[in-house]
Amino acid sequence: MNSKKLFYETPYETEFGAKIVSADENGIRLDQTMFYATSGGQPGDTGTLTIANENYKIVTTRKGEGADDILHVLEEGAPLPPVGAEVTGQIDWETRHKYMRMHTSMHLLCSLIEGYATGGQIGAEKSRVDFDVPASGYDKETLTRQMNELIEADYPVVSGWITDEELEANPQLIRTMSVKPPSGSGKVRTIRIGDEQTLIDFQPCGGTHVKSTGEIGPVVVSKIENKGKQNRRFHIMFADS
Ligand SMILES: [Zn+2]
Repeated sequence: MNSKKLFYETPYETEFGAKIVSADENGIRLDQTMFYATSGGQPGDTGTLTIANENYKIVTTRKGEGADDILHVLEEGAPLPPVGAEVTGQIDWETRHKYMRMHTSMHLLCSLIEGYATGGQIGAEKSRVDFDVPASGYDKETLTRQMNELIEADYPVVSGWITDEELEANPQLIRTMSVKPPSGSGKVRTIRIGDEQTLIDFQPCGGTHVKSTGEIGPVVVSKIENKGKQNRRFHIMFADS
């Protein structure tokens, strides 16, 4: 079952109206939602669904049968809301905004590392990304300085969509992308960071991001760990946390 993803259209809205399509022990499905479902290393949103004066606490959001099937998960044992009811949804904005800042900072890190990101976990206070790179060549002080320069330059962060046909017709796009887009699904959401003169990062991404890099605020690359011959784990924190 598909929910309309409001978080792509209006990533800065925190409240929305929706209708309950189904509700069971796996979660609540809405016809449309602002709640981002856990994926790509970004945690699912938390928040509240309200019907009349009744509040239903959402402890996480995850994907169900497919990418567009979004399940709003209640606390275990919580009563289920009535199917068909009109609800007001409210996401926990303070946490989500931290995820958006962190997530965008990870794109900046990607732009500074020559190698593929193989995984990562975004948190509200700290995050980590694994890269397929050899041992030498990176130190946390230099990366911290480079990341903060990109943040201070306040580059725009713009999302878009690219179709499989557009990709096929423009093979150079794949070369400029830091991650190869999945093909065969019809269209892929992309994130571009940079201005007209400078391209910082361009890659397929389904997450939520801030609108310009300045909004990330100062960050620190706190640790670089060796996790095997070709795997380095980079840890990022907000400088003020
Ligand atoms: Zn992203």
